[in-house]
Amino acid sequence: MIIVLKPTVSKDEIDHIIHKIESLGLKTTLSNGSERSIIGVIGDERKLAGQPLEAIDGVEKVMAVLKPYKMASREFHPDNTEVQVRGNVIGGKKLAIIAGPCTVETEDQTIKTARIVKEAGATILRGGAYKPRTSPYSFQGHGEDGLKILAAAREETGLAICTEVMDTRDVELVYKYTDILQVGTRNMQNFNLLLEVGKTDKPILLKRGLSSTIKEWLMSAEYIMSQGNKDVILCERGIRTFETSTRNTLDVTAVPVIKELSHLPIIIDPSHACGKRHYVGALAKSSIAVGCDGLLIEVHHNPEEALVDGEQSLTPEDFEKLMGELRQVAQAVGREVN
Ligand code: PEP
Ligand code: MN
Repeated sequence: MIIVLKPTVSKDEIDHIIHKIESLGLKTTLSNGSERSIIGVIGDERKLAGQPLEAIDGVEKVMAVLKPYKMASREFHPDNTEVQVRGNVIGGKKLAIIAGPCTVETEDQTIKTARIVKEAGATILRGGAYKPRTSPYSFQGHGEDGLKILAAAREETGLAICTEVMDTRDVELVYKYTDILQVGTRNMQNFNLLLEVGKTDKPILLKRGLSSTIKEWLMSAEYIMSQGNKDVILCERGIRTFETSTRNTLDVTAVPVIKELSHLPIIIDPSHACGKRHYVGALAKSSIAVGCDGLLIEVHHNPEEALVDGEQSLTPEDFEKLMGELRQVAQAVGREVN
């Protein structure tokens, strides 16, 4: 349920409403919108039966949230959410460019790539220390040693870090090193992991599942938010379709759909969507044109030698050139790229 407040509502009236609802055993979230403030009510609404909420001073109307995801819905929070991470805002006018290797290989490789992407305008470094590989015999990532390398790269460049956590048992450790915790495609419906990262106070980058609907994706965001963490960044990274010419099929439609249904920022990962370096630029440009809030792009200082996903990783030259093109597209749609 949402309680829409009158434009003239006072702070005392808001406090009174919140106190009244919480004393009945429900939780509230207050969002101060540009036009109206709204109190979202979470919990068993039967406890409010018979309460004439509309009679309380300051209340304009009381409405049911019809969507199964509540906190993630735009009804609940009409204004866009802006996620703050080490001086970056994700969901504002400026697009967040997250770039880096698929996986952390060595300190030299990671720092080299970090410098390259920073120089070209990225503000967040990505790189996996725990890798979700289809084969148990493929390189699985360096674990904590990889996290230490990412932290060293942050120290060296000032870039914020985004890295994946795959297991509830690793949340505490990954939290210690990273600025953004990434929940990967294969774990989008690992509900225990979602609950665990939801208890942290760092932003969560939630990738869309391989064959997940937008509704299922938003329900996963709701799992995270239900634990108190409201800083969820959605990431579309291509879905499974019948098409085999590309690794996956990028669903650009997800951007306007998410913008309508949710207030959460949405970024696009063109690298995992297509799986081929040659297509990454076209997808990145279309993603900005369609209104995404940022991009996650794989870059390697020497893709030929990359341990994972070399085929889709941009070279330093490709990335720098692409950033120039992205600036132009961003400008055309009223956005900015660093
Ligand atoms: C990744 O970003 O490193 C990754 C494994 O991506 P996805 O979960 O989208 O496959
Ligand atoms: Mn990858």
